[in-house]
Amino acid sequence: MSTEGVIYRVAGPVVTATGISPKMYDVVHVGNEKLMGEVIKIVGEYSIIQVYEDTDNVKPGEPVTNTGKPLSVELGPGLLESVYDGIQRPLPVLRDKMGDFIYRGVSAPGLDHEKKWDFEPTVKEGDTVSQGQIIGIVQEGPMEHKIMVPIGLNGKVDSIKAGSYTIDETVAVIDGTDVCMVQYWPVRNPRPVEEKYQPDIPLVTGLRVLDTMFPLAKGGAAAIPGAFGTGKTVTQQSLAKYSDAEIVVYIGCGERGNEMTEVLTEFPELEDPRTGMKLMKRTVLIANTSNMPVAAREASVYTGMTIAEYFRDMGYNVALMADSTSRWAEAMREISSRLEEMPGEEGYPAYLAGRLSEFYERAARAKVLSGGDGSVSVIGAVSPPGGDLSEPVTQNTLRIVRVFWALDTKLRERRHFPTINWLTSYTMYDKQLLDWFKANVAEDYPALKAWAMKTLQKEAELQDVVQMVGSDSLPDEQKITLEVAKMIREIFLQQNAYDPVDCYCPLSRQYKMLTLIKKYSDLSEKALQAGAPVDKIAYLPVRTRFNQSKYEPKVDEELEAVDKDMDQQFAELGA
Ligand code: ADP
Ligand code: MG
Repeated sequence: MSTEGVIYRVAGPVVTATGISPKMYDVVHVGNEKLMGEVIKIVGEYSIIQVYEDTDNVKPGEPVTNTGKPLSVELGPGLLESVYDGIQRPLPVLRDKMGDFIYRGVSAPGLDHEKKWDFEPTVKEGDTVSQGQIIGIVQEGPMEHKIMVPIGLNGKVDSIKAGSYTIDETVAVIDGTDVCMVQYWPVRNPRPVEEKYQPDIPLVTGLRVLDTMFPLAKGGAAAIPGAFGTGKTVTQQSLAKYSDAEIVVYIGCGERGNEMTEVLTEFPELEDPRTGMKLMKRTVLIANTSNMPVAAREASVYTGMTIAEYFRDMGYNVALMADSTSRWAEAMREISSRLEEMPGEEGYPAYLAGRLSEFYERAARAKVLSGGDGSVSVIGAVSPPGGDLSEPVTQNTLRIVRVFWALDTKLRERRHFPTINWLTSYTMYDKQLLDWFKANVAEDYPALKAWAMKTLQKEAELQDVVQMVGSDSLPDEQKITLEVAKMIREIFLQQNAYDPVDCYCPLSRQYKMLTLIKKYSDLSEKALQAGAPVDKIAYLPVRTRFNQSKYEPKVDEELEAVDKDMDQQFAELGA
C-alpha cells in the first residue's frame, strides 16, 4: 500500500490525487506546503480530497502523503477556554504563526503539550479499571477535568501517581499500557456510552417562553430558524450563559466575516452568572470565519460534537450551539458541487438529510462509561434565506429535531423579544417532561401552561374578528380574554436579554408570574359577574406594577406585593 502520491487535479477546496491507496476519511497532506485534507471519495485509482486550507497556487504534480489516520481531535486538559478553527487548530496560535487570516500549511496541535497540570488520582494501584472510567482529576479553571481510561483499555492499575505532568507524560500504567492525559478521537465517530436515557429532564434555560411553553430536554435537540436579525445569536448566547449545562461548546459559522469577529470579541467578554468568572472558562469556542476554507467549516460541527461528547463522558451536561447550521450545509453544497455530484433540492447534496440527522442524533443523555450521567443537548440555529422556512435545510432539520423555536420577523418589528412565535413553535418532549415539571415546579404547572397557550390561541382567533368588526362589538368576556392574552405576551413571554434582572427567570418565578396572570383572569371574570365595568377591570393600577415587576431587583418580593394589590383592587371592584 503506497502512502505517497501526486496531485492530479485541483478544483478549489477539492483536490484529486493518484498513487495513494487511502481509506475513506484518511487525513492526507497535500502539495509542497503539506496542506491538510481528508479523503472524501475514492473512485478507482483517484482519491478525492477536501482540503482544509486555501489551495491557491497548489498545482498538479505536487506530492500527496497519506497519514493513514482519520481526522481526530486531541482531548485533554487545556480544552476549556480554547478558541479553535474547524479542525481544532487554536486560533491564537495560528495568528501568532501566520498573522491574521492566512492559514496555510500550519499544523498547530489542539492542546498545549508543554504546560503542566496537577493530576490527582482517584483510583489506586491494584484497582481494576475499565474503559471510560475516571482515574484522576485535574483542576481546570472552575471545572474538574476528569481523566478517563482510554476507550478500548481495561485491566489492573499497575501504577498511578499524583504530580505535575504535561498531557503526554505517563500518569498511570494500566495492564502494561502507559496512560497519559491526552486522548485522540476520530471526529466522525460518536463516542460510546453505556446506555441512552429517555429525554425526561428539561434543560432549564431561564427563558420563560422556552422553559414553560416549549421546553427542550437535556440530551435533546432543538432548531432555531429565523431570518437575519431575529435573535438567533442573542438566544444562543443566553442559552450558553444561563442554561443548566456545566460545559458550553459554541460552534460559530459566520455568514460574513464581521459577524464571526463579533463572536470572537464578544464571547470572551461574557460573564458567567454561575461562577462569577468569564464564561469562556467553561467554554470551547469553534470559529469558522468566512475567509476560512469551506472544508474546515464542514468538519467543524464534528470537531465540536466530539469535544462535547468527551465532557459528557466525564458526567457533565453539555450544551452545544451551532450558529448557524445553514452555513455548514452551504459548505456541504459547495464541496458537493466541486465533486460534480448530482445536486438535490436547491443544489444541496442528496445526503444533506443524512448528514443533518447523523449530527443531531449524537445529542443524548446517557449513563456514561465513567458511571455517572452526562448529556449533550444540541441547539442549532438555521438561517433560511429570506426567512423562508420551506427551504431544504430548515425542512430537513425539522424532520429530525423535536423542538422548534420559530423566530418571527413580525415580532421583531413589534420589538417583542425573544421573537419566538408561540403559535408556530412546538416541543415534542412535552409529555415526557410532564412528571419532572410536576415534581420540581408545581403539580398544576402543566395545567397553567395549557391555560396560557389556550388563551393565546383564543386571542389569535379573536384578532381576526376584531380586524373585521373592531373590538367594541366583542362581548365583555372576550374583551377580558384579549387583555389577559396581552398580559401573557407582555409580562410573561417578552423577556429582555440585556436586563440584569429579567435576563434569567428561575422556574419558580415563571410559575409565580403565570399564576398571577391566571389570578387576574379569574378575578376579572368574578368582577364582571359582580357588575364591574370592563374598562375598570382591564386598567387596574396593579397591571402597571405587574408589568414593571420583572425588572425590579427584588422581583420576588415585588410579585408578592402585586399579588396583594391585586386582591385589594379587585375587592374594591366587588370581586
Ligand atoms: P440573528 O443572529 O438572528 O441575526 P441577533 O441575535 O444578532 O440576530 O439579534 C439582533 C438584535 O435583536 C440584537 O442585536 C438585539 O438588539 C435584538 N434582540 C434579539 N433578541 C433579543 C432579546 N431577547 N432581548 C433584547 N433584544 C434582543
Ligand atoms: Mg446571528
